[in-house]
Amino acid sequence: MGNDGRQKDHVSELGAMFSHRKIADAQASYEDARYVIFGVPFDGTSSFRRGSRLAPDTIRLAYDNLESFDFQYGVNFPDIPICDLGDLYVEEDAEEVVDDIERSVKHVVDDGKVPIMLGGEHSLTTGLVRNFPGCSMIIIDAHSDFRDEYMGNKFNHACITRRSLEILGPGKIFSIGTRSVSREEYESPEWSKVRFISANEVREKGITRVIEEIERKAGDRIYFSIDMDGIDPSEAPGVGTPEPYGIQSSEVRALINHFAGKIVGFDIVELTPVYDNGNTSMLAARLIQDFIGSKESKA
Ligand code: MN
Ligand code: MN
Repeated sequence: MGNDGRQKDHVSELGAMFSHRKIADAQASYEDARYVIFGVPFDGTSSFRRGSRLAPDTIRLAYDNLESFDFQYGVNFPDIPICDLGDLYVEEDAEEVVDDIERSVKHVVDDGKVPIMLGGEHSLTTGLVRNFPGCSMIIIDAHSDFRDEYMGNKFNHACITRRSLEILGPGKIFSIGTRSVSREEYESPEWSKVRFISANEVREKGITRVIEEIERKAGDRIYFSIDMDGIDPSEAPGVGTPEPYGIQSSEVRALINHFAGKIVGFDIVELTPVYDNGNTSMLAARLIQDFIGSKESKA
């Protein structure tokens, strides 16, 4: 206090008058939290339509529209210890941002909490995955993201599956919704080390059989990454690199519902608000509730 303690300061009054945007149900302190949400407003390597750096606050705003109670999961979200750290300060270089995410998420994981990242572009996921060696990984994505480097950068968003393979090893990664692959990626000797499940295969088999296969092959700890362009553009138009013929949001939810108990970290990336009609950010907010709600209902 700047007045020798004669008068209390006005932090509570000011706190009631100004907002610092966070996920509405994130009402716990970091100390008490079981789920730690954070944004990373970075889209520096995005090749086609930039703007995913604007997604974290857009998702938080959309989340305000959601009910805090979910009768299907039987949870009241404000009662669940969730905190929102706000947004990471980002550098200009993707590799530096990935390193910063790795360092910050290490604290979260060491403290026994579940990190939930609001991207930003897909390259950022590497910083989280480095904290989960030995885990399996489920990726929702239209793209294989399997280039060793792109535009001279190993930390381009077109390389995230390849970087994850280097960390997790063969047979651990299930990438669902694939429908855009370069010839070099497809013919790479590494290709068979990741199980790419195309959007067509999901349509032909049904998501239940896809879930059964992953259940047989994945271990007990799974990292879950949602590139919003994996979902059909009719449902998720607000992305940087849209691809027709995608999977359905209900299929992503079925995967989350089934595997929630095993999921140790979660991210939503590539949402690009300037191309959105509002549905993509709404869906992203809802997927966060689906993850936390179904994980809590299994706890
Ligand atoms: Mn991607
Ligand atoms: Mn993609």
